[in-house]
Amino acid sequence: MDNELTFCKMPLDRASTLRKNQSWLEQKLAATESCFYFYWRGKYLYLEERLFVYSKASTADLTLDCSSSALFNQAISDNRVTFLGTEQDAAYFVCDLSFLTDVEMKQWLDKLAIQKLKFIDFRSSLTLLNQHQGAILSYAKALIHWQKSASFCGHCGEKTKLMDGGHRLVCQNTGCKKEHFPRTDPAVIMLVEHQPKSGPAVCLLAEHHRIPEKVFSTLAGFVDPGESLQEAVAREVFEEAGVKTTDIEFIDSQPWPFPHSLMIGFIARAQNTELCLEEEELRSADWFTAQELVNFGEWGDESDGPKLPRKESISRLLIDLWCQKQLSQSSG
Ligand SMILES: [Zn+2]
Repeated sequence: MDNELTFCKMPLDRASTLRKNQSWLEQKLAATESCFYFYWRGKYLYLEERLFVYSKASTADLTLDCSSSALFNQAISDNRVTFLGTEQDAAYFVCDLSFLTDVEMKQWLDKLAIQKLKFIDFRSSLTLLNQHQGAILSYAKALIHWQKSASFCGHCGEKTKLMDGGHRLVCQNTGCKKEHFPRTDPAVIMLVEHQPKSGPAVCLLAEHHRIPEKVFSTLAGFVDPGESLQEAVAREVFEEAGVKTTDIEFIDSQPWPFPHSLMIGFIARAQNTELCLEEEELRSADWFTAQELVNFGEWGDESDGPKLPRKESISRLLIDLWCQKQLSQSSG
């Protein structure tokens, strides 16, 4: 599968061996061609509608004045700059300024010798980003979230220290020294289909309490410890909808940086169609034909009718692929 899913197709070489070399990292931090993104509390810095990238080589119209460059240098010396990867000779970093308060951030922006800079929430700025930018920023966001959540050792409670350009945390307790690495939470997401003896095939979609009403999405859930992905698919579908499944087939996967999941997408066949919903999770669920789904509205539109999930989600990809297949079969 080679789908253009949002957050996929990271263009940078993660340079996972080179980033362990502190002198190489320091050289890259100071290099003219290195590029920096700025992050503050779930938001990235934009110049009007364009993602802002600071580089001594190319940002000729930006001069960091004394106080802003001091802050930038402080962020570097405080290990608040995370290495993301390389593209040819250029190294890419994200500078996390989340330690600044609202007021301090406004002051920092005011002092920069460039107008029209603003921080925009990552999720709501996806339409401003191309595929590669979306992948880089999603990676950066997941790393920063992990660094914050693991800033104290899970074993002994002592502070941890960032190493390897922000990709490893080491406990500062000399009796512990436990290493912590970025975590990814696997979640399965699945479109369940059923082919009746006569008539068109149908698929199972549900309204989840955690998303707006009338948006129908595929079922999904986190993988339990000691569970295979296929077992997780079968368990989640049965728990949430009372449907037993077979022929579970992998379709595609997508990093999902809210906060640090990996969505693993499947299609499965239903063995029964009666629904028994887990009401804590689902508002409603039903079986739909492809012809019904193509008439659904879009997430966020004003209509009162049923809607499809967000275009950037793998849920939407699974629905779109299934509809295309059904409609091409019925027309062929
Ligand atoms: Zn420890």
